[in-house]
Amino acid sequence: MEISGPYLTINLKNLEHNLNLLRSKLKKTTEVIPVIKADGYGSNAIVITKKLISLGIKRFAVASTKEGVELRNAGIKNPIMIFYPYIKNFKLLFENKLEPVLYSNTLINAAIKYLSDLKITNYPVHIKFNTGLNRIGLSINEFDLSNLTPKSKCFKILSIYSHLSASENPRPCKYTSSQISEFEKIKKITSEIVKPEIGFHILNTSGIFNYPEKQYDAIRSGIGLYGYANCKSWDSELKPVLTLKAPIIQILKIKKGESVGYNNAWASKRNTAIAILPLGHADGITRSFGNKKIKVDINGFKCPIIGNICMDIIMIDVTNSKCKEGDFVTIFGESNSASFISEQAGTVSYELLTGLSQRILRKIIE
Ligand SMILES: *Cc1c(COP(=O)(O)O)cnc(C)c1O
Repeated sequence: MEISGPYLTINLKNLEHNLNLLRSKLKKTTEVIPVIKADGYGSNAIVITKKLISLGIKRFAVASTKEGVELRNAGIKNPIMIFYPYIKNFKLLFENKLEPVLYSNTLINAAIKYLSDLKITNYPVHIKFNTGLNRIGLSINEFDLSNLTPKSKCFKILSIYSHLSASENPRPCKYTSSQISEFEKIKKITSEIVKPEIGFHILNTSGIFNYPEKQYDAIRSGIGLYGYANCKSWDSELKPVLTLKAPIIQILKIKKGESVGYNNAWASKRNTAIAILPLGHADGITRSFGNKKIKVDINGFKCPIIGNICMDIIMIDVTNSKCKEGDFVTIFGESNSASFISEQAGTVSYELLTGLSQRILRKIIE
């Protein structure tokens, strides 16, 4: 019998479904900016980007300059926003025609200096305002509005945006309302000086479901394209793009009272059959997934992970299921929601997906 290792499938049909679903909630004129940072939320940024281009997407967003350069090196010529550029990487950023998000005066001043030294004018940039997430962004009070005027020849302003802190919280949400009214104020003040080429935007995935009337001119969606939206009923409209499977490489039988795994973290209360899977915390399945918090899907049976997750191995109690060595177990995917198991483990789907290591083979389903 030939047993191969764990693998992650990337289902591009489901990606297309999710894009269409998101588009169905938006006006035709609203630009969809897919967020493909962290290697496309743990999938494969290049594969995802190429598929989305074939579906009519024009512009993408990633976190770092390095991620943008990787897409350029793969031959992707579309506009790419860089959410968090480092001044140190400006040469790389500008030479690769990446679009920086300017979120602080330090960054704005450094960009002006860099561009004017090289006599570059009209370089496409985005401006990010903080409206209450208090993570990153300019406040309108500290922002020098002359950066938006034609007098500042360095920049062509493509968009002005902000980010919500609790877009998935049930409406009405006071905090979100105050962020949106702050953004309205910013829009009013800046619109008097500049008409950004793309326009204004504030929504991420959950925001599209919760505040479609605040879509302005564009949305930035990451997790939704991969099949999750931070709410069970919204998730049900989407389809998971990623499925993680691993083979059973051994089945052990242990007696009542014996323990399993490091530090004897789990002891059997009855004679138990244990299936061994060849993946662990080095693959991105963190320790919080161990010790019966999470169940995986084995031939339709939900079986708990027992003991501590090891670096390369996970143990499953399969006493009540039908399985044999070589069978593939679904850790998460359509039959076991990544969002649900993450919640059970005290985390979020974002962390589970983006933590999947490169050691796991990726398989594309066209
Ligand atoms: C990551 C990120 C997004 C995408 O958010 P999702 O919840 O995955 O849709 C949007 N905007 C910014 C600024 C981000 O950093």
